[in-house]
Amino acid sequence: MVEITNAAEVQKSLVEIYHHLHQHPELSDHEFETSALIRSKLKEWGVSLTETQLKTGVIAEINSGQEGPTIALRADIDALPIQETTKLAFASQNAGIMHACGHDIHITALLGAAYVFTQQPLDFKGKIRLIFQPSEEANEGALQVIDAGHAKGVDAILGLHVKPGKPVGNIGIRAGYVAGSIDKFNVTIEGTETHAAHPDQGTDVIVALTDIVGALQTIISRNVEPTSSAVLSVTELHAGTAWNIIPRTATFSGTVRVLGKKERELIRTRFKELVSQLSAAYRVNAKIDWYVGDPAVYNDPDLSEIVKDETGKFTKVFESHAELGSDDFSCYQELLPGVYAHLGVGDTGQVHHSDFAPDENAILTGVSYYVNNTLRLLEELR
Ligand SMILES: [Zn+2]
Ligand SMILES: [Zn+2]
Repeated sequence: MVEITNAAEVQKSLVEIYHHLHQHPELSDHEFETSALIRSKLKEWGVSLTETQLKTGVIAEINSGQEGPTIALRADIDALPIQETTKLAFASQNAGIMHACGHDIHITALLGAAYVFTQQPLDFKGKIRLIFQPSEEANEGALQVIDAGHAKGVDAILGLHVKPGKPVGNIGIRAGYVAGSIDKFNVTIEGTETHAAHPDQGTDVIVALTDIVGALQTIISRNVEPTSSAVLSVTELHAGTAWNIIPRTATFSGTVRVLGKKERELIRTRFKELVSQLSAAYRVNAKIDWYVGDPAVYNDPDLSEIVKDETGKFTKVFESHAELGSDDFSCYQELLPGVYAHLGVGDTGQVHHSDFAPDENAILTGVSYYVNNTLRLLEELR
């Protein structure tokens, strides 16, 4: 295990970077200044930047010059459209935009790792690829990075995400599923418009819609295995223009979050059956638009054991809970084995809230996570 030399000084300069990033958050796909800052720090430390067709985000590589595996380290870099309410001295200066998901902590921890890899005398064989990924919140960035070819030649990938409610600097790792897949749906029901006083002259899309929405709730409770984790939420309904007209169309939208691939398929099948057969029963037409989103975050079991073992040498490791939130880190894991860990940032509000204020003392443990697990995997995967 590698200790960070001059840890107090490193922590101080990383906290400065963190405060700057927190003050200047940028939305998905618009991380221009953020990318510029990352590039300038990497250049300062002699890290070679990889040419890229990405609009935002930064890819870099540290090459030992000796034959060995390639380990990729990923940090997401975008912020959210939230007006910060923390009252921190270094609160966001960009109105309506906030690093409310801790991606500024991720960037800083990965920069810290780049600093250690280049400024501390370390002996390793292979390559370390740094992926400062844009647009995670828009569920687009990982695919942009992959499409640009930056996941090619990678043997394993490590990711990290802040976790409020866990002790500062503790790290959560779980083998297998950690976060859910995302699908979105939009259903349009079409009937025949009629006067409210003459329902017999038309076909009522509102009655059909409410029954269909109710029936969809039986998929999770009646069809999915009771011990599996899955959610189906209808979140939007639109119908009607006047109190005395039964409208011609009604629409509803929502999302499905689930851990298992088998369950994901089952839910989609049952969804189609219920919508098409109930709409037929009500003599209305239904059109389903189904948007397949990111897969579930799945940690490679063997790599998870190695990362757990290594991480336990420098901090306390806890078992992460599987959740139905999502992270497009899963797109890399569809292609190569990876581990997505949680970094405890103490008692603060939840992520995506305007008062989210993670404890910056967790940054150094984030650096250790990236550094030590990379060095260990470079050895293990030779
Ligand atoms: Zn987020
Ligand atoms: Zn996030």
